[in-house]
Amino acid sequence: MLRTAAAAAARGAKTSRSVGCRVAGGRGFLTWNSLPEEHTMLRDMCRSFADNELAPNAGEWDKNHAFPKDQVAQLGELGLMGVAISEEDGGTGLDYLAYAIAMEEISRGCASTGVIMSVNNSLYCAPIEKFGSPEQKDEHLKPFASGASLGCFALSEPGNGSDAGAARTTARLEGDQWVLDGTKAWITNAHDAQSSIVFATTDSSKKHKGISAFIVPLETPGMSLGKKEDKLGIRASSTANLIMEGCRVPKANLLGEEGMGFKIAMGTLDAGRIGIAGQALGIAAASLDCAVKYSMERKSFGQPICGLYAIQSKISEMSMKLDAARLLTWKAAAARDAGENYTKEAAMAKLFASETATFCSHAAIQVLGGMGYVSEMPAERHYRDARITEIYEGTSEIQHMVIAGSVVKEYN
Ligand SMILES: Cc1cc2nc3c(=O)[nH]c(=O)nc-3n(C[C@H](O)[C@H](O)[C@H](O)COP(=O)(O)OP(=O)(O)OC[C@H]3O[C@@H](n4cnc5c(N)ncnc54)[C@H](O)[C@@H]3O)c2cc1C
Repeated sequence: MLRTAAAAAARGAKTSRSVGCRVAGGRGFLTWNSLPEEHTMLRDMCRSFADNELAPNAGEWDKNHAFPKDQVAQLGELGLMGVAISEEDGGTGLDYLAYAIAMEEISRGCASTGVIMSVNNSLYCAPIEKFGSPEQKDEHLKPFASGASLGCFALSEPGNGSDAGAARTTARLEGDQWVLDGTKAWITNAHDAQSSIVFATTDSSKKHKGISAFIVPLETPGMSLGKKEDKLGIRASSTANLIMEGCRVPKANLLGEEGMGFKIAMGTLDAGRIGIAGQALGIAAASLDCAVKYSMERKSFGQPICGLYAIQSKISEMSMKLDAARLLTWKAAAARDAGENYTKEAAMAKLFASETATFCSHAAIQVLGGMGYVSEMPAERHYRDARITEIYEGTSEIQHMVIAGSVVKEYN
C-alpha cells in the first residue's frame, strides 16, 4: 500500500511541478490541509512508516548506536532514498517540497534515520545527478537513489569545518588515476555507506578554486575508516573519519570539472539545508506532540497541567515557532522547485528550524518535568538530537553570515 502511495505521489508531482511557486508567491497552500493531494499522500505514507517502524524502535537504536539497516532498506523500497532524483536516474522524481515533507515525517519518528536519508538524498545523489556523466550516473547514482546502496559526503576535515575552502586533503593525477591523501572528519553514514563524494585540493595555489570533487567507493584500497564517534545525539547514524593514504580512483571519478569542487559543495549544501530544516521540523513536531499529550494526562493541583497558563504559554510558543519554521522551509523548497536562487531562503529555513527544534525539545522536557529527563520518554532524545541541527551543514553562525551576505547584496 505504501509503495502505491509513493508511486501515485510521484505521478502527481509530475503534473504539479509548479506547486512550490504557489508557496513562494503566497497565493496557494500554507497549511497541511491545503497541500496538493500527492504531497498529502506522501506525508501520510511517511507518517505511517514513522509511527509504525521508526518511533517504537528509535530509543533502542539510540541507546545501542544501532544502524536501522532494515528500515533504511524499506526507505529505499518506498522511494525515499532519492525523493527528488529523477526516475531516469533511479529516484522517485518528486520535488523539493515533497523532500522537505518526507524529511519532517521520517525525522519525527527517528532523527537518526532522517539524517541517514538526507545525506544520501541531497548530499550524495543530488550532486551526481547535477554534475555526473552518464557513466557516473549508471554506476554511482542509480543504485544509491533507489536505496540499494548508501552514500556519504566528505567535505569537513579535522582542521577545518566552517572554513571548507581550506581543505588540506590532496588529489594528484598519476597516469589515468587520481591519488588522494588526507583525512575527512565527521562523515555521516561512513560505517554503513558504499561510496562517498570527497573534496580534495588539486591546485593549492588557487585556494578554494583549486578544490575538486571525486566519487570514491569506500572499498577502494588506501581508504580506511576512523572509529565511530560517540555522539550526544543522532546516535543511530554512524559518524567517522575517512582516512585516505595513497587512495587511487580512476581518472573518470572526477565529478564535474577540475577546480569546480567548492562550487559543487556550496550548491549541494544549499539544497541539503532544506533537508536539515525538515529534520529539525520533525524533531520539533515530535517534541510538541510528546509535550501536549503528556500535559493532557498529567494532573497537578487537581487539574491537567495543560490548563495551567505556564504550560499553555510553552505549548503556544512551541506550536507557533514550529508553524513559522515550516513555512520558511516550504518557502525555501518552493524557491528551489521554481528554479529561483534559494541560498538565503535555505539558510533562513535551516537556521530558524534548527533553533526551533532546540527550543521545542527544551520546552518539552520542562513540560514533562522529571519524566522529561529520563529515557523512558522520548523527550530527552529529542533534546539531544535537536542540537546537531544547529551545527552540521553550516553552523548557525555561518547561516547568519550567508543570510546577511544575501540581504546586503540585494541592496547593491
Ligand atoms: C554528527 C556530525 C555529523 C556531521 N556530518 C558531516 C558530513 O557528513 N560531512 C561533512 O563534510 N561534515 C560533517 N559534519 C561536520 C560539520 O559540518 C562541522 O562540524 C561544521 O561545519 C562546523 O565545523 P567545525 O566543527 O570544524 O567547527 P568550526 O568551524 O571550528 O567552528 C567552531 C565555532 O566557530 C564558529 N565559527 C567558525 N567560523 C566562523 C565565522 N567565520 N564567523 C562566525 N563564527 C564562526 C562556528 O559557528 C562554531 O560556533 C558533521 C558534524 C557532526 C558533529
